[in-house]
Amino acid sequence: MSSMFDLSGKVALVTGGSRGLGQGIARALAEAGADVVVAGMARPDETEAMVRAAGRHFVSVTADLSTIEPVGRIVDEAIAGAGRLDILINNAGIIRRADAVDFTEKDWDDVIDVNLKSAFFLAQAVGRRFIAQGGGKIINIASMLSFQGGIRVPSYAASKSGIAGITRLLASEWAGKGVNVNAIAPGYMATDNTEQLRADPQRSRDILARIPAGRWGESADLGGAAVFLASAASDYMHGAIIPVDGGWLAR
Ligand code: NAP
Repeated sequence: MSSMFDLSGKVALVTGGSRGLGQGIARALAEAGADVVVAGMARPDETEAMVRAAGRHFVSVTADLSTIEPVGRIVDEAIAGAGRLDILINNAGIIRRADAVDFTEKDWDDVIDVNLKSAFFLAQAVGRRFIAQGGGKIINIASMLSFQGGIRVPSYAASKSGIAGITRLLASEWAGKGVNVNAIAPGYMATDNTEQLRADPQRSRDILARIPAGRWGESADLGGAAVFLASAASDYMHGAIIPVDGGWLAR
C-alpha cells in the first residue's frame, strides 16, 4: 500500500516554497521520497534544511513570478540542478485587501499576474515537458475563494476562481497524455497570507467559529493531499479540486 504514495526518484518543483504552505508541501514531498526544487524570491534556507534532513536533494531557483519572464529559466535550472521534473506545485501567491468600491488597478494586476498568469504559463512550460516524457503531476493551489466570493479581495477571488478554471481546462486537454492536473483548496491557514485576518479580533473570531475543526490550518495539514496528488495513488484523478479546510465548505 505505501508504495502507491512513494515519490522516490521523482523531482518536485514548488513555487514559493520558502515559507508558509509551499514549505509544508515541499517538506511532505521530500519525506515521501521526492527531490525538491524551490522557485521564489527569498532564500529558502529553512526549506532546504527540511528537505536535506529528509535525505533528499535540494535545488533553489531565484525567480520573481510577478512576470512570466523567468518561466523558461525556472524549468531549465530545475532540470539542470535536479536532473528531471515530475511534479509541479503552483503555490506562489499574493493577496491584496480593500473594499470592492476602492479596489485599484494595481492591486488587481499584481495579484492576477502572480496567482493566475504566472501559474498558467509555468504549467504550460512544465506541461510541454510532461507531455513529451509521457506523464507528470501538476498541482495548483486554489482556495475557498475558488468556490466562494469572500469579501474585500476581488482580484484574489478572481485569481483563485481562475485557478479552478484552468485546472479543469488543463486536465481536460492533458488527461489523455498521462498528465494529471488537479488542485488543493486550502481553508483558512495560519500563514503570512492571513496575518491581517488573524490580527483583526472580530474577523479572526468569526472565521474560527465557522471552522468545524475548531482551529486554523497549519502548513503541515496540506502534506497528505499533496503527496496523494503527486503520487501514483491519484493516477486516475483529473481536474479535481480537493478542499483541505477543516470542514469550512461542509458547513
Ligand atoms: P505566504 O506565507 O504569504 O507565502 C507566499 C509564497 O508565495 C512565498 O513563498 C512567496 O515567495 C511566494 N511569492 C509571492 N510572490 C511571489 C513572486 N512574485 N514570485 C515568486 N514567489 C512569490 O502565503 P501562503 O499562505 O503560504 O500561500 C501559499 C499559496 O496558498 C498561495 O497561492 C495562497 O493564495 C494559497 N492559499 C493560502 C491560504 C491561507 O489561508 N494561507 C488559503 C488558501 C490558499 P518568497 O518567500 O520567495 O517571497
